[in-house]
Amino acid sequence: MAKDDTLKTYRAKRDLPRSREPKGGHRRSRKRPIFVIQKHAASSLHYDLRLEAGGVLRSWAVPKGPSTDPGEKRLAMPVEDHPLDYAGFEGVIPEGQYGAGTVIVWDTGSYWTLGDEPIERALERGHAAVWLEGRKLHGGYALTRIGKGKRERWLLVKMDDEGADRRGNPVSSQPESALSGRTIEELTEQA
Ligand code: MN
Repeated sequence: MAKDDTLKTYRAKRDLPRSREPKGGHRRSRKRPIFVIQKHAASSLHYDLRLEAGGVLRSWAVPKGPSTDPGEKRLAMPVEDHPLDYAGFEGVIPEGQYGAGTVIVWDTGSYWTLGDEPIERALERGHAAVWLEGRKLHGGYALTRIGKGKRERWLLVKMDDEGADRRGNPVSSQPESALSGRTIEELTEQA
């Protein structure tokens, strides 16, 4: 498979540049790999978790968003790879476009893989543990694939470490963008 092929679906689904989202391409971060969690008020509100891997952002839609409670399993639906440039994207995807609605960068930072395998390999195997160093989230998260093919789903679970917080709920206590400080509602109004 040609290197750029993993972004084919991303481009095919969108009416670029009309959707106002970045076209992007394969590239790598110069320092540590990055992660981003975008809050996306589309037809249904969800959080898009994206991990840099293989020159793109591997992506999952997490309906309830990440939890800091190791006892909480959060469903994560795999979605198409996104270009690395998407990590800084905040804005309003116009009506009629794929994923129409407002996007903010809810959290972002760098991550590293826990264990010996590179992230690509771990994801291929269906189990990856990553340490997130975000502005809001810190610590280990496990991503585990359940089901295959059309039934592919993943579970996102906080690991039990210093970043765990069984009472906290950052999704509701810190709704604003980690980049601009704006909420989904503020950004939607300003657009
Ligand atoms: Mn989304």
